[in-house]
Amino acid sequence: MSRSVLVTGGNRGIGLAIARAFAEAGDKVAVTYRSGEPPEGLFGVCCDITRPETVERAFEEVEAQHGPVEVLVANAGITRDTLLLRMSEEDFTAVLDTNLTGAFRVAKRAAKGMLRMRRGRLIFISSVVGLLGSPGQANYAASKAGLVGFARSLARELGSRGITANVVAPGFVATDMTDALPEERKQEILSQVPLGRYASADEVARVVRFLASDDAAYITGAVIPVDGGLGMGH
Ligand code: NDP
Repeated sequence: MSRSVLVTGGNRGIGLAIARAFAEAGDKVAVTYRSGEPPEGLFGVCCDITRPETVERAFEEVEAQHGPVEVLVANAGITRDTLLLRMSEEDFTAVLDTNLTGAFRVAKRAAKGMLRMRRGRLIFISSVVGLLGSPGQANYAASKAGLVGFARSLARELGSRGITANVVAPGFVATDMTDALPEERKQEILSQVPLGRYASADEVARVVRFLASDDAAYITGAVIPVDGGLGMGH
């Protein structure tokens, strides 16, 4: 069955891999992008998830093109890493506004249609860092931990209407976000990953696709790690 899928931040990195994985499976996929061109072969909607009016417009465009969103992947995210005493209030609130409040904005809008259809899949891309903590990432870790409480509340609130809400917590994935880390930090991280390597974006994408599949119909409120063992025990 071809479903209407929306991936925020689906123009590059993990989001693009997720979008392509759904498209490969025959779904109707839309991705948000903020500037430039949407990726080839995917339906792009211009949207900044920190701006509610662009979120509304993006959903209207997706609904007109593909019908109500049945699978939402809240993937868009940013980092503003620095140590606590150097972290400005703006550094903190900007990360929270994108990673957590941004997910709230799109999930709320998607849930409207899902409640009507009495089915839907909400998938939030968190991070192992939300569970383990990370020096220099207090803002990011707080936003990613927040997604867990948010998703679990939605799992309870929306479960009786056939809507699941799950979290995927990737470890380190080779993308622009991790490229930006200093070499020393990269080596330090890899030395702690039992599998001894980064994930590929496709390895995350396939887990997301599974959570949206019929095989995962009875999974809700779960936090699925895709982290090579880095976060085990949490
Ligand atoms: P990238 O930095 O490669 O891509 C981030 C994506 O988010 C881009 O598409 C970007 O759009 C989009 N985005 C950022 N802010 C906004 C906004 N305000 N409105 C709309 N879109 C926005 O990141 P990754 O692919 O690495 O990460 C994707 C997700 O996975 C993030 O939530 C990240 O926290 C999480 N993650 C990543 C890990 C990693 O190792 N890479 C590990 C664990 C979690 P634009 O192109 O316009 O900037």
